[in-house]
Amino acid sequence: MEINNSLPPNRKHNGCSNSEMKDKKLFTPGPLGVSLTTKQAMLRDVGSRDTEFIQAVRYIRETLVQLAGVTLDKYTCIPVQGSGTFAIEAVLTTSLPRQNAKLLILENGAYGKRLGLVADALGVDYKVVHFTETSMVSIDTVKDLLEADQSWTNVAIVHCETSSGVINPVEEVGKLVQKYLPDASYIVDAMSSFGAVPINLEDIHADFMVSSANKCLEGVPGFAYAIARISRLQKCKGWSRSMCLDLVAQWEGLEKNGQFRFTPPTHAMLAFKQALMELEMEGGINARSKRYQQNRHILKEGMKSMGFQELLDERIHKGYIITSYHYPEEKEFDFKEFYTRLQVKEQVIYPGKVTKANCFRIGNIGHLFPDDMRHLVNCIREVCCDMGLALPLKTS
Ligand SMILES: *Cc1c(COP(=O)(O)O)cnc(C)c1O
Repeated sequence: MEINNSLPPNRKHNGCSNSEMKDKKLFTPGPLGVSLTTKQAMLRDVGSRDTEFIQAVRYIRETLVQLAGVTLDKYTCIPVQGSGTFAIEAVLTTSLPRQNAKLLILENGAYGKRLGLVADALGVDYKVVHFTETSMVSIDTVKDLLEADQSWTNVAIVHCETSSGVINPVEEVGKLVQKYLPDASYIVDAMSSFGAVPINLEDIHADFMVSSANKCLEGVPGFAYAIARISRLQKCKGWSRSMCLDLVAQWEGLEKNGQFRFTPPTHAMLAFKQALMELEMEGGINARSKRYQQNRHILKEGMKSMGFQELLDERIHKGYIITSYHYPEEKEFDFKEFYTRLQVKEQVIYPGKVTKANCFRIGNIGHLFPDDMRHLVNCIREVCCDMGLALPLKTS
């Protein structure tokens, strides 16, 4: 999509010393806005071998394991340089056996499809089982699949399918994997939910969970991480087809001397430590979850009052990470213009990513608060008016 990034010449001074420097509000699936104090924590140079840095890495790894509801004797956290997908690739290349690997991917959107792309690049035997984008992965279908075939060595699923906002039943699927495939590795991409949707890795029977610094934990981009069941991780030694993305080697390095094998994202990790302390000050995952739910509620009511239609049936889907909206049917609506006009008002929304409907998405996550959502709703109202869209929209 072509997006016009230029600012109008008459844009008012906004209080910053340099008006071009003011941050826009990001209502997106990522990168997301973070607090000023999190950004300020990066204004330091620390060496990778500094005690201070090594302590920060330890604090981050231990805190993430706690946030996953589990203990350090059974689980460990392995940070990986790069974006979220790098950690997904690290988990897959590390946990797929060298012999007879067979990966089952439960897919209901773009991020599930991406798991398939990674498997394809690794050259392993895999199958993507597709579910409708607007529904959850069906437990009954998974049960039938596993009952019929127990040769899978790995099963992967996305927790919050950020392309639509659907939250998948990772616990029910985990119980089925545990029952039918006790030796398989169960992998959960919780990229856009971890830190905001409470999860307990033991309860969901996950062997590997993946998330990244710049989603609901509100750090800056630069690294992602896997939280792994130690007993399972140990079995994967020597399996990785990649040297850099070898999770076992990365873990062994960190356990040996607290250091990364290769240059760590020092600034991003200092920021993340601050972000984790701010999560605690906010009241932990439950408080953050509450804030995002409030964000979602304000958005939902505001958009409904203007006549916008959600992609998902809100009676069934209770996710509060991101919301997909159908394009209004009015001929005056043009997404590119809508997007650009909102951007001029410093509100960044996101194009849709479902295949069967024209949608746009609005994220509720990151450093966003109820007032930001109210302001966004007001901006959308103004933009509709400026575009000549009569409100409320006629319901289709
Ligand atoms: C953001 C996200 C990813 C990772 O995307 P990157 O661009 O590599 O950070 C993976 N899965 C889901 C569900 C996501 O929301």
